[in-house]
Amino acid sequence: MADLGKPQNTIAVLQKYHFNFQKKFGQNFLIDPRVLEKIIGAAGITREDFVLEIGPGIGTMTQYLCENAREVTAVEIDRNLIPILEETLHDYENVEVINEDILKVDINGLAQKKNGGNPIKVVANLPYYITTPIIMGLFESHVPVDSITIMVQKEVAERMQAGPGSKDYGALSLAVQYYAKPEIIANVPPNCFMPRPKVGSAVIRLVRHEKAAVQTENERLMFCIIRASFNQRRKTLVNGLNNSPEISASKEQIAGALEKLGLNPGIRGEALTLEQFAELSNVLGHYL
Ligand code: SAM
Repeated sequence: MADLGKPQNTIAVLQKYHFNFQKKFGQNFLIDPRVLEKIIGAAGITREDFVLEIGPGIGTMTQYLCENAREVTAVEIDRNLIPILEETLHDYENVEVINEDILKVDINGLAQKKNGGNPIKVVANLPYYITTPIIMGLFESHVPVDSITIMVQKEVAERMQAGPGSKDYGALSLAVQYYAKPEIIANVPPNCFMPRPKVGSAVIRLVRHEKAAVQTENERLMFCIIRASFNQRRKTLVNGLNNSPEISASKEQIAGALEKLGLNPGIRGEALTLEQFAELSNVLGHYL
């Protein structure tokens, strides 16, 4: 099968099947072999690996994955793409295509079945509207994951990688960094896709920590505090937490907890590190 990384081959397949792009599925297919090579290289895929690909499209990246991995499972929601994938992946015996919404797939079960429950690699050029639920779903449901190498909207990649003090720093940065080490691998301009998206994209790799980045006695409370801090970004942390219906501590208790951690009572959430949020949740947890 011809390399779909070459635009003329992608066009030929799309024409042959009279394929209509579906906006609701975020369909922007990669047509740049250099970007495909970069993703495969960043994911560090070897012949030992089982790889889950989310949203294979017409199978462009899937071909590259099949060339490098032991086994690939590709989950594609759009049933119109299934006959195309049958043709474009015909030459590979190490791939299974599942026609399903990834949010409905039992990924834990898949990792068990295909990889004996050992950590899997996830690679995807994601539809941007479900980036966060997919990534957080993988982390929160404790799927055994080694790394996630994904194409996302550039701004989202920057938010995932941001640290305290940056305008991009927020609940997504902290959630991702609690579970993994993010690293932006490359920026990818719209002309690397067909059709061209309106926004810039970036490849980011999230390497899962062996154990969570910080120790917290109450993970749920820590994330409640994080969300409340960034919901009202311009308010002080004391006011932001005090205004949150999810957190019942009084203003005095919150101020007292900050003092105990050696933090200024007028501090804003955006100045706190993940460690400080963990400590704060440990102290506040005793009042609730
Ligand atoms: N991987 C291909 C490539 O790089 O050219 C296609 C990437 S395109 C940005 C996203 C793909 O994800 C599309 O094929 C789309 O149909 C599929 N998709 C969208 N939502 C999905 C979902 N919930 N579950 C599985 N696949 C989905």
